[in-house]
Amino acid sequence: MTQSDILIKHLSTVFDPELGANIVELGMVKAVDHKGLTVKIDLALTIADCPMRNQIEKEITRKLTLLENVETVEINVVAMDQKDRTAVMEKARKKARENAQPTKVDPRTRVIAIGSGKGGVGKSTLSTNIALGLSKKGFKTGLLDADIWGFSIPRLLGIKGRIEANDEKLMIPYDYDNLKVISTGLITSDEDTALMWRGLMLSKALEQFLTNVDWGDLDYLIIDLPPGTGDIQMALSRLLPQAELIVVTTPQLMAQKVATRVADMAKRSFIPLLGVIENMSYFETSNGDKFNIFGKGGGDALAEQFSIQVLGKIPISEDTNDIADDGTPLILQEKNTPTKTEIEKLISVIANKLPPIVDETCTGRLAKVFEELSK
Ligand code: ADP
Repeated sequence: MTQSDILIKHLSTVFDPELGANIVELGMVKAVDHKGLTVKIDLALTIADCPMRNQIEKEITRKLTLLENVETVEINVVAMDQKDRTAVMEKARKKARENAQPTKVDPRTRVIAIGSGKGGVGKSTLSTNIALGLSKKGFKTGLLDADIWGFSIPRLLGIKGRIEANDEKLMIPYDYDNLKVISTGLITSDEDTALMWRGLMLSKALEQFLTNVDWGDLDYLIIDLPPGTGDIQMALSRLLPQAELIVVTTPQLMAQKVATRVADMAKRSFIPLLGVIENMSYFETSNGDKFNIFGKGGGDALAEQFSIQVLGKIPISEDTNDIADDGTPLILQEKNTPTKTEIEKLISVIANKLPPIVDETCTGRLAKVFEELSK
């Protein structure tokens, strides 16, 4: 695969929300040139002055600068000629007719998969708290426990209920104070269902959760991946091209080595790496002294290796276990602890780095072009 193929692959995860398709399939990317750390793109837009132009340009820059060999993106907007414009609109119309979404997750939903090299690093704890935190900020958020057999989210949230299906036989996520939660732990009460799920391959199970769940309209979907690498990441990039990955690691250099494999695998599946979280980073005493109980440097080393950001360093909490077991997640705890404070900061960093897609439209853009088409 050439460098330009790789860039095109990443550009095809940038979505034109109004036209319902990605900018590559819509033929908007006219030329890509990569020299040194700079990428130059000729981008054709249906109408040059459009509020969405800004959003599309920002998204292209954000996506490409996540790549380790891209620092600057220069976008040259070229006008579309009539022929191009007709072709784009035909494609958009065809797409709308086919309603060809492979999953029930809206292409405008920001999808953050949270992975780790091995279990026990706090991946599920962080996925749960991040999802709750985004939901608390007012974003419409879903939490998918893709750890099919090792699920822990129902326990972390203290959910005892079961999810149900609607008339169209789609599963309805469990509503945890507006956070929409799906986990095998919420469906496997009867033996038959349990057997069915056990028989599914991991990637198939993920597919079920993305295609058979009525996710509705979400700003964010947080996916707690099973530990390790493999099928599930490939399935993820196939089913949800907009997915981006956060890798959770602990400060030990050994842990970082295992996490490297996950990041490598994501790169090979063209899943952008949003950043690293170093969990159990240090312990802070009540007078503010910090101790690096599990060593130092794992998160930074991983981030440096892949030219990505450390999104947060989360201290060891004295209470995580107790709180998790009685079903009150850390972020909802009243007491302010160093761990809670750092998780809250982390959530803001994530929301800033990956802001929800706003529905800016180019007023009359579609109407105008459909009118031209019908002439
Ligand atoms: P994973 O999903 O990576 O297997 P979990 O989220 O289940 O990991 O966490 C493993 C254990 O570590 C749990 O008992 C959890 O309560 C604890 N834990 C997670 N993060 C922290 C933290 N920052 N401080 C203290 N304990 C933590």
